[in-house]
Amino acid sequence: MNTIDTRRFGVDDISNAINLGLIVVDADGQILLWNNWIAKHSGINEADALNRQLEQVFSESMSPTFLTALKNTLTHRLPVVLSTALHRTPLPLYNASETNQQQTRMYQSITIMPIQSQLNESCCLIQVTDSSTSIKREKMLRSHSEILKKEATTDSLTDICNRRFFDAHYEIAVADAKRQKHCLSIFMIDIDFFKAYNDYYGHIAGDNAIRLVAEALKLQLSRATDIVARYGGEEFVLVMPYLPEKTAEQFAEKLRKAVFNLAIPHINSGPFNRITISVGVCTGIPENDDNPLNKADAALYQAKQKGRNQFISLPLCETEEYLEQ
Ligand code: GH3
Ligand code: MG
Ligand code: MG
Repeated sequence: MNTIDTRRFGVDDISNAINLGLIVVDADGQILLWNNWIAKHSGINEADALNRQLEQVFSESMSPTFLTALKNTLTHRLPVVLSTALHRTPLPLYNASETNQQQTRMYQSITIMPIQSQLNESCCLIQVTDSSTSIKREKMLRSHSEILKKEATTDSLTDICNRRFFDAHYEIAVADAKRQKHCLSIFMIDIDFFKAYNDYYGHIAGDNAIRLVAEALKLQLSRATDIVARYGGEEFVLVMPYLPEKTAEQFAEKLRKAVFNLAIPHINSGPFNRITISVGVCTGIPENDDNPLNKADAALYQAKQKGRNQFISLPLCETEEYLEQ
């Protein structure tokens, strides 16, 4: 076994130089060692701690988990590790640089080891490390990964969902509607005469108009199951489950009006003099190879053909009754 060469170093030299908190308590919980690190981070001098009960030295509470772990180690002579993931701040320790006012407890990682004194007393060595940095790093990594996840599914111009998110969501929404046999509505939306808008007002104004339209569409949604995504260029798509066909048509009209009421001037938009949208909506309970997106696109095409600034609704299954119309 390695031992400290006491002719060269005393235990105190090492324990006071080490970048780690060290406390030794005996079987009655009386403090036998209190190193500099602990003194610095607790604000309690060695002289005020030695030979006192650990529980009475701190003016603030220690965590019940720590006290139980200490008792267990003293009783059963087994080491215990309190990981910082589960027990963030067992002891009232602080980073010395922080002012008294807004102190928050230091994140700690604690190991409690049974040790035997040279007088054959059963004691416990409590080792404390500062895990604030690793916790901060972990928080930073987590927030970075959340930002990356958001960026991967968000359209950077409009801040609504992007095409990638839509593709994945659409597949799930269709599969859910098929399995649960509920209605699904897909709305395809396209800004009218947008090439002419860009040509006349410029690309930056064009980008801004896309942003305003996206915002207006998003404001119409209120249920967590509904999504609006930028499908590409000046096209958007909405996915809304559980709407009866009539309600979906009323909603398509609501979308059209919301953009119309933005009253964004557009002198080359035929008779409208403002930015407008055309909407194709398809509603139904999907079965087999039904493709509501294609149907919504066909409806959008018809809305364009019929003069724009309007919606066309097509049912997913074209029953004979519908075809006769
Ligand atoms: P329609 O009414 O038939 O939809 O006519 P349109 O001019 O809107 O359709 P077209 O497909 O001919 O032109 C779409 C235009 O949208 C082409 C492009 O200049 C513009 N556009 C597409 N994406 C963007 C974008 O991200 N920013 C800007 N500013 N313009 C875009
Ligand atoms: Mg288009
Ligand atoms: Mg267009």
